[in-house]
Amino acid sequence: MSASPLSAARDVAGLRAAVNGWRKAGLSVGLVPTMGALHEGHLSLVRTAKARCDRVVASLFVNPRQFAPHEDFERYPRDEAGDSTLLASAGCDLLFAPERTVMYPEGFSTNVIVTSVSTPLEGEMRPHFFGGVATVVTKLLLQCLPDAAFFGEKDYQQLLVIKRLAHDLDMPIEIVGCPTVREHDGLAMSSRNAYLNADERRVAGRLNLVLHEAIKAVRGGAAIVDAEAEASRHLSAAGFTSIDYVAIRDAETLERLDELRDPARVLAAAWLGKTRLIDNMEV
Ligand code: AMP
Repeated sequence: MSASPLSAARDVAGLRAAVNGWRKAGLSVGLVPTMGALHEGHLSLVRTAKARCDRVVASLFVNPRQFAPHEDFERYPRDEAGDSTLLASAGCDLLFAPERTVMYPEGFSTNVIVTSVSTPLEGEMRPHFFGGVATVVTKLLLQCLPDAAFFGEKDYQQLLVIKRLAHDLDMPIEIVGCPTVREHDGLAMSSRNAYLNADERRVAGRLNLVLHEAIKAVRGGAAIVDAEAEASRHLSAAGFTSIDYVAIRDAETLERLDELRDPARVLAAAWLGKTRLIDNMEV
């Protein structure tokens, strides 16, 4: 156990005992799922949750099922003691930090698959990803049974997938999307930004600027395909080593748009060396 002031539950019984106690006292409960290595983006979710709910649970679990074998599960940054201190300072009431065997005991055989919004973009580039996310989030929501759960728009497609699954499975839980928190140069905060070296970090700040330019272009009448292609060219010229996609899509379904129509969203994923960055904005 860490020496932090925040109490921690390690299993579902401990989590439910705390949540049931609050419920009996008439208190509402918010859940903020995370994979740790926390930054201001995560803490903004905790503060929003605390403003909306009487008690806040943050979960910390680096979910192996959402990483492909060649991805960064092993090197993903981990610092439970530091995270716990930050969560306490943001007003969190309980840390839920289960071991892998608590989440996926021997014999675990269920996979939650959301179709439609899971299919394009991240779904094409990381085919394993949304199955892993939907499965772990379904588990966390059912383990905690909060009144509301809070997710960042930083992972916009993930937010749509989670809204879809909560709706489709009739979960009595409000899914709340929260704005992306950014560094001074506009780079969306991410635990993976820690992988960037100084040169890559400088280039990373261009991603949000290029998306702003793409928005300006389509708002000014440019064709969507041209704005997307131009944005990809700018990212390459800025030093991004590979572009997975820059896409202007329907903001609710992520379907392609022949011409601009509200609500629309621009989404991008691009690599700087071994680090993959994503970002998105309302058009
Ligand atoms: P992660 O630990 O990366 O799985 O993220 C946990 C939650 O924090 C997810 O709902 C993310 O969308 C959210 N999040 C991550 N980065 C940011 C950010 N820069 N601004 C707002 N929310 C974020």
